[in-house]
Amino acid sequence: MSETALPSAAAPQSGRLSSWQLLMANRLAAVGLFALSAILLIAILAPILPLPDPDITDQPNRLLPPLSPGHLLGTDHLGRDILSRLIWGTQVSILVGISATAIAALIGSLIGLSAGYVGGKADNIMMRLIDMLMAFPYILLALAIVAVLGPGLLNALYAIAVVNIPFFARNIRGVTLSIRHSEFVDAARLSGKGHLAILFTEVLPNVLPVIVITMSTTVGWMILETAGLSFLGLGAQPPTSDLGSMLGQGRAQLFTAPHVSMVPGIMIFLLVMSINLLGDGIRDVLDPRLRSGALNRPMAVTTIDRAVKPEPRKANAALLEVANLETGFRSGNRVNAAVKGVSFSLNKGECLGLIGESGSGKSVTALSLLGLVASPPGVISNGAVYLDGEDVLSQPDSQIVAQRGGRVSYVFQDPLTTLHPLFSVGDQIAEAITAHQRMDGKTARAQAVELMETVGIRDAQQRASAYPHELSGGQRQRIGIAMALANDPDVIIADEPTTALDVTVQARILELLQKLRRERGLALLLITHDFGVVAQICDRVAVMKDGEIVEQGETSDVLRAPQHAYTKRLIACVPELGVGRAFLDKVRPLFSGKGAEA
Ligand code: ADP
Ligand code: MG
Repeated sequence: MSETALPSAAAPQSGRLSSWQLLMANRLAAVGLFALSAILLIAILAPILPLPDPDITDQPNRLLPPLSPGHLLGTDHLGRDILSRLIWGTQVSILVGISATAIAALIGSLIGLSAGYVGGKADNIMMRLIDMLMAFPYILLALAIVAVLGPGLLNALYAIAVVNIPFFARNIRGVTLSIRHSEFVDAARLSGKGHLAILFTEVLPNVLPVIVITMSTTVGWMILETAGLSFLGLGAQPPTSDLGSMLGQGRAQLFTAPHVSMVPGIMIFLLVMSINLLGDGIRDVLDPRLRSGALNRPMAVTTIDRAVKPEPRKANAALLEVANLETGFRSGNRVNAAVKGVSFSLNKGECLGLIGESGSGKSVTALSLLGLVASPPGVISNGAVYLDGEDVLSQPDSQIVAQRGGRVSYVFQDPLTTLHPLFSVGDQIAEAITAHQRMDGKTARAQAVELMETVGIRDAQQRASAYPHELSGGQRQRIGIAMALANDPDVIIADEPTTALDVTVQARILELLQKLRRERGLALLLITHDFGVVAQICDRVAVMKDGEIVEQGETSDVLRAPQHAYTKRLIACVPELGVGRAFLDKVRPLFSGKGAEA
């Protein structure tokens, strides 16, 4: 999608694509849209097109083949012009399909909204009634409704609408239920808004995309279902005909004059297909997560798009060296840089702190090292990552993937989101081991328990069968560290490993990392926004701001004599019992001038 060249002049300021551009960038949706527009146009123009009357019979000219003079698509068993009947029939089918969808959407959404919003008993009763409707096979239900109301196009329309109401009601109720308790609804309630006002101004706008998506994906179905009823003779009654009844009438001549049934059959196919393609396109456009291309087939390794391929570094290379790394995110036809020319190195057994405020590009830097930034939209546009002198980013994808969790492993900020909720922690550590080493389950499990002991979890044998939600935050982070240690890595990249924890647990986790580093000679890249953490365990520190490293050096030097105004501010933010105010007073003059912009 992002490869499509688009006129940049039409792109909005933000660099994001407009909904129309997004829809057009999806080729299948564009095909659907054009096919549907063509069909709609012809159907709407039916009254002014030079067509013979679709209902005039002409017995001598019955069952003429296509391309006969005066009858482009031939005639049916009563000698009626098939082209004319097709265009009028398409008009009827579309009209019925769209009306049925509108009715089902209106009633279904109202039920869903009120059930979801009111909740409790009312919700229960409404949903059980809906369940009863859903318990019947819907075509049987539609047949039963038509049987009671009597055959006819309008009754078929009601029947199709009724059987589709549950579909809307259930979908909308689910979404409403999840919105009902969100903070903005509470805020609206506290501001004194009434229920109806909240329902229509707060909840409905958030539910609307879901309604539109459900509609766009069901119109095709409804047209098919109406055609089905008409095919059985329960929908359109002569002389009116829709595509379904044309198909039904052509059934008798299926072998002698196949075109009579094939023509409406092909039209139904084209119509439903184009609506469905367009519906899928609309769904993708309305889903904000799909806008940036984030869910657009992410690849195993970040897209690497460098102008020059760097040479390997042989002589006395550092364990990890990052040179002039540039990573950005594609948005439409632009690349917004998040990391701009970052360079640093890390030796064996060393701890480098990467510090900066939120959004400065620390995580993107860390993820770039092994191509973990999701692509699209991520792209590494320059630089190299040398591991023992070899550029990782020049290696084939499979080799990069193999180093993750092997030579280089990661510890992330919130282990509750990175651990699988349905597997025991012991199994997850064992899985991390067997991903890189061949061994049987039992040995892996025993090693997992050993690792849990290493990271200081008491009763490891027993705790191994616990699930992530049964552990405390600190214990979960220890599991995360155990998984990172599983394959004896050379480098551990810890991305804010203690941010989600309280200070006492933080201190213990940092101690643990420090101890493991000493014992195992690990190199540690510690990402944080807290200078206190850096001061505690890092040998060197690199200060990051807006995607660039603004200062780098020995921790003690940087702490003693920070050069950059931003570093001074970061240091000033470290609370020190009793001395904070005095310290702030001391440093305030330092950044009242140059650094005052932030
Ligand atoms: P932090 O220093 O807090 O870890 P990040 O490295 O996560 O910051 O983010 C750096 C910048 O990259 C931010 O401006 C963020 O908006 C941007 N960014 C991160 N992920 C994406 C993404 N998937 N798409 C677009 N921009 C992103
Ligand atoms: Mg981050």
